[in-house]
Amino acid sequence: SRAKLFDEKNDIKVTFKDVAGLEGAKEEIQEIVEFLKNPEKYTNIGGKIPKGALLVGPPGTGKTLLAKAVAGEAKVPFFSLSGSDFVEMFVGVGASRVRDLFKQAKEKSPAIIFIDEIDAVGRARGKNNFSGSNDERENTLNQLLTEMDGFGTNTNVIVLAATNRADVLDKALMRAGRFDRQIYVDLPDIRERKEIFEVHLKPLKKSEDLDTEFLAKQTPGFSGADIANVCNEAALVAARKDKTAVDKQDFLDAVDRIVGGLEKKNKIVSPEE
Ligand code: ATP
Repeated sequence: SRAKLFDEKNDIKVTFKDVAGLEGAKEEIQEIVEFLKNPEKYTNIGGKIPKGALLVGPPGTGKTLLAKAVAGEAKVPFFSLSGSDFVEMFVGVGASRVRDLFKQAKEKSPAIIFIDEIDAVGRARGKNNFSGSNDERENTLNQLLTEMDGFGTNTNVIVLAATNRADVLDKALMRAGRFDRQIYVDLPDIRERKEIFEVHLKPLKKSEDLDTEFLAKQTPGFSGADIANVCNEAALVAARKDKTAVDKQDFLDAVDRIVGGLEKKNKIVSPEE
């Protein structure tokens, strides 16, 4: 039996409520929820349901979360895999894994396929990547294109793919009938950071002095993932000090640690706002 290189979830609980900020992206992707919930409404009148959309934006901004929320809102199965998994795979199996994935998704349609880090497999073809596995990668990419072209307009499988490098993608991926929609998922601004803090503070025992506006001001350049990280780190700091609630100082300590980590990763923490 072969190891599964994709994951299938049939009971996604994530909804748009869990995705803070990103109003524009949510509005755009809402349309895909509608297609999945009620495909006939569109096909009966002769419309073609889109096959794919690309979620474009920096790491940790909620692309995976948003894709899951689409499945959660539409109550459809969520098939996911990462482009980098393909690259690490044994030679000769990438294309067949893609075939398997689409076959299973079609059987369970309407369904979402989510491909994270599509750039790992979807870089422009014919350019040397020095990894020596170019042929394998191209075979996999070609199979992906074939699958997307092959499934009919009433297959009701929508492929969402995430990247932070839309510029390196093979233009063939963006052609009509493939990933012909791009949805931008940017770093949060101060108001969005406040909302993200509100989401991630919910499970914590909070002290009275916590103020999400203040926390948002302290975290310019942070992604949603960074903020989730800060909230958890603050809870751990507080617990280590045997506190029963997380307070402002715990957050400041946590922000310092995360900023330290970000600087190590050479990320720029921009002095916005
Ligand atoms: P990558 O490009 O690194 O794969 P991504 O854009 O897919 O990142 P996610 O994996 O969706 O980012 O985000 C990681 C975690 O950060 C989420 O599970 C969530 O906890 C938190 N997060 C990110 N963005 C948001 C948001 N807009 N609202 C609430 N939580 C968020």
